[in-house]
Amino acid sequence: MSAKEIVAKLVRPEIQAMHAYSVPDAHGMVKLDAMESPYRLPPVLAARIGEAVSRVALNRYPVPSATELRALIREVMQVPAGCDVLLGNGSDECIQYITAALAREGAVVMAPAPSFVMFSMHALFFRLRFVGVPLREDFTLDAERFLAAVAKDKPSLIWIAYPNNPTGNAFPVADIERIVRAAPGLVVIDEAYQPFAGASFLPRLAEFDNLVVMRTVSKIGMAGLRLGYVCGPPAWIEAFNKTRPPYNINVLTEAAALELLRNKSVLDAQAAQVLAERERVRPELERLPGLQVYPSAANFVLVRVGGAKGAGSRVFERMKTQGVLVKDFSGTHSLLENCLRLTIGTPEENRILVAALREALK
Ligand code: PMP
Repeated sequence: MSAKEIVAKLVRPEIQAMHAYSVPDAHGMVKLDAMESPYRLPPVLAARIGEAVSRVALNRYPVPSATELRALIREVMQVPAGCDVLLGNGSDECIQYITAALAREGAVVMAPAPSFVMFSMHALFFRLRFVGVPLREDFTLDAERFLAAVAKDKPSLIWIAYPNNPTGNAFPVADIERIVRAAPGLVVIDEAYQPFAGASFLPRLAEFDNLVVMRTVSKIGMAGLRLGYVCGPPAWIEAFNKTRPPYNINVLTEAAALELLRNKSVLDAQAAQVLAERERVRPELERLPGLQVYPSAANFVLVRVGGAKGAGSRVFERMKTQGVLVKDFSGTHSLLENCLRLTIGTPEENRILVAALREALK
């Protein structure tokens, strides 16, 4: 049998039917598709990271529990006393090990829909039933509908991205609280975009036994490092730790992250610039003809192009030919037809973005 035939015989059909997470080539483009920070580091800080990295013993495995980095995260992120912290190779990996820990036979995973695609993908990898509870057409949370789904399907695991990706909005705190109280299982509040939202459930962790908060440093200038973390009651963290691959945080990531987090004010200032840009760009987008602009508490804005099916993808392609890469969500969820997600960049990038979009909409 050829390798292809063996794969066809042995690999799970649902995996064969999937496409690997695709990342388009952004070479030479204004890259506004992945919610990265548009800012490089000041040269002095970059040099200091270079020195720190040069001192790392590459011949050794990392300290498996990344003690020093976890302690620094606790301090700079103000993780409440009594909570533990677990690191992941990006929060993507945290999603994997949380799902693994809760992957009992017949367990249900639930999230609002549309939301971050990895929630449902990891459910599929672990053979769990995923229930996506549709948001309203304006992407607000239908709390009654969600609570009814919780009562019916009794999920072991609920994901709530706060703010939500790709819609950009943060659901009302009171609704999330009701969900946490009603949930028979764990609720993970995914705060990937917290630096742009301000609000957080982190200080409130002690109030709930079935709540953990997941964060990432990807959106504040460290996407390339791959570092996410989960904070919560020690019993949960201990359970996740058993499904975490050992040495998941590599020594270069650890050394660089230590240096960067000691200088977090630099990253905070960059995030503040992005936030200011979001507010500046928003009215410009609203003035573009036929474009619906959704509220955002994140470092991106979701917009909907007017017109028939296919209009959004055409605008996406026309922007691409002008050298601007955004993310096209048409075809990914019925509520997202003709929707494009625009990551906020530098003032110059945003100027190019708005000009390209204006041209593409003509
Ligand atoms: N959660 C949400 C809601 C996201 O949008 C993303 C990135 N797109 C992630 C988690 C994963 O981020 P990372 O793996 O870079 O930490």
